[in-house]
Amino acid sequence: MIRYLKSIFQHRCPTCKEPLLSHIDDLRCEKMCPNGHYREETYGQLGIRIIYEDVK
Ligand SMILES: [Zn+2]
Repeated sequence: MIRYLKSIFQHRCPTCKEPLLSHIDDLRCEKMCPNGHYREETYGQLGIRIIYEDVK
């Protein structure tokens, strides 16, 4: 169930619940936790999403 939820777009850091900062350019959409727990890169044209998550 947790893994399923993680497959949905995140709008808040799963660790500290802070809203994610987003940065969008021509190639990708990047979202990151202001405290560095979580980072997500989405490459829309390629259909690829990469998630970097702080694992405890
Ligand atoms: Zn965080």
